[in-house]
Amino acid sequence: MGPGEKLESGRKGPSHVQGLSAEEQRRYSRHILIPEIGRAGQEKLKAARILCLGAGGLGSPAALYLAAAGVGTIGIVDDDQVALSNLHRQLLHGTADVGRPKTESARDRLRDLNPHLEVRLHACRFESANAEEILRDYDLIVDGTDNFATRYLSNDVAVFARKPNVYGSIFRFDGQTTVFAPHLGGPCYRCLFPEPPPPGSVPSCAEAGVLGVLPGIVGTMQATEALKLILGIGDSLVGRLLHFDALKMKFREFNLRQDPDCPVCGQHPTITRPIDYEMFCHGAPDLTRAVPQVGVRALHERMQSGQPYVLLDVREPFEFELARIEGANLIPLGELPQRTNELDRESEIFVFCHSGTRSERAAEFLCAAGFSKVTNVAGGIDAWSEEIDPNVPRY
Ligand SMILES: [Zn+2]
Repeated sequence: MGPGEKLESGRKGPSHVQGLSAEEQRRYSRHILIPEIGRAGQEKLKAARILCLGAGGLGSPAALYLAAAGVGTIGIVDDDQVALSNLHRQLLHGTADVGRPKTESARDRLRDLNPHLEVRLHACRFESANAEEILRDYDLIVDGTDNFATRYLSNDVAVFARKPNVYGSIFRFDGQTTVFAPHLGGPCYRCLFPEPPPPGSVPSCAEAGVLGVLPGIVGTMQATEALKLILGIGDSLVGRLLHFDALKMKFREFNLRQDPDCPVCGQHPTITRPIDYEMFCHGAPDLTRAVPQVGVRALHERMQSGQPYVLLDVREPFEFELARIEGANLIPLGELPQRTNELDRESEIFVFCHSGTRSERAAEFLCAAGFSKVTNVAGGIDAWSEEIDPNVPRY
């Protein structure tokens, strides 16, 4: 039993994992009819233990579908209470649950859906002190968290334990999902984003809106990947990132590669134990230091004026591979604090990212660090592609 854990089931011990009762065979008959699943697959699902981090937007559909599918044990980590503003997307919870702990509301709904399920509640934060102990009893993680601190921690402990981490993220109309599993040949989260961005550099969760149905789609895809991994069927998202744009109703796929220099799964790892990062997702960013902005047309004119300038791209390397502005220097936002010595304090610096949010934070950071002539490029490379150079791919 892990820390803060309550066993929420009438059945105790491992004996229940053997075989399926007549009632279970009827319940799962549409699964058992599929040759790739069959009775043996359904028994694998019954023996499986999945840890859902978060009972929110992504955790709701993931836990509901995993429970319905017959996964035998689901653990839920969440220290939050149900709020009215959760209900437009977190379908595990109902109006009568507002104010209740999310773990308890989730347990009641999942038990109603499938009484054969063993639900384990961890009504605590997932922290460096308990993360490995909690994960020990599970086969894989479905990460539905909304903050960087937990995201890095879940990545790291999953790598240490050689267990897959099914990742999902959502923002407004866009969602992404992949499976991080270095032991299965793919990258981990730190292969892409080695360190968290500096505190205050990302919009807080509360102010980042999301279309209610979006986590339903992304969380259901996470559940799909979890089921496939348990059943050992199909092609998993290991090494592939699936991006979903609800406005365009389009999926795009990106190949992800393992980084041999990754601090946690690389050849010479420097991170070998769990780390707690500041929970900066819950704080509002400091917007008191407004930085100058420039549009892409004005930037284009400025670049052609012959005056010297530095064009700083603060996106991630895989974004740089997808699309770039000629002459730009890449320093990902998360690396900026360690790499300011690569920039000349006297130069006029134009900072851009995908759409202007990360670059604004980067510009604020540079101003605070003593750079005097820093300008944020409003609209980022996306506006550049739309208004200046259509040859730059949009993503
Ligand atoms: Zn890695």
